[in-house]
Amino acid sequence: MNHVQGCAHGCKYPCYAFLLKKRFGQIKDYDSWLEPYLVSNTLELLDKEIPRLRDKIQSVQLCFTTDPFMQGYPEISAMSIAAMRKLNEAGIKCTTLTKGLLPIELAQLSPENEYGITLISLDETYREKMEPGAASYTERLAALRALHDAGCRTWVSIEPYPTPNMIEQDLNKILEAVAFTDRIIFGRTNYSKMANAYRRHKHFYNVCATEVITFCQEHGIDYHIKEKTITEE
Ligand code: SF4
Repeated sequence: MNHVQGCAHGCKYPCYAFLLKKRFGQIKDYDSWLEPYLVSNTLELLDKEIPRLRDKIQSVQLCFTTDPFMQGYPEISAMSIAAMRKLNEAGIKCTTLTKGLLPIELAQLSPENEYGITLISLDETYREKMEPGAASYTERLAALRALHDAGCRTWVSIEPYPTPNMIEQDLNKILEAVAFTDRIIFGRTNYSKMANAYRRHKHFYNVCATEVITFCQEHGIDYHIKEKTITEE
């Protein structure tokens, strides 16, 4: 579910949603992408769509082409929570992914829901460069931890993971920081000249994926390695 057009987080990986919207002429440029438009009749649309589609829906993901808990936009967070409440009341589970702060009110919604953050580094300088409008890693992690401590299911997306020519870092430290979560998703950086320019990027991602799998197996955490992250060298 994408109830907002644009995203003030302005990720520079680049953001796939931005590239797609720009290609199809829905967004003019990066600056207009940074100004989000909330679909103000989201709840009315859900009232129409839920009865029609309920039996076909396994779960609803918020969001694929924007961020449901966008930093600095409380009206977007409020709408996301209201929409999730409506979906949960119809027996539909929700999964969220954000680079903002997960509100603690989410703990009052269905226990079936799953709450996730993206975390590709612990280095704030890198975060400012790649995710300039997003929440800091420390605050993002603390909000996720608070939901975990309140009994919610939590997960982490370590994607798009950078190659060493983008930042030198220890993947194990990131894994340790999210070891309390229920599921870890790991994926390479796509659509990036810099990642592809790293001479041994295939080998690098194969080693990282093995590290994630081993860590998750040792800690009893579910995991998923995104397609094309593990490849033949
Ligand atoms: S948070 Fe997601 S939708 Fe927003 S700019 Fe970053 S990658 Fe794109």
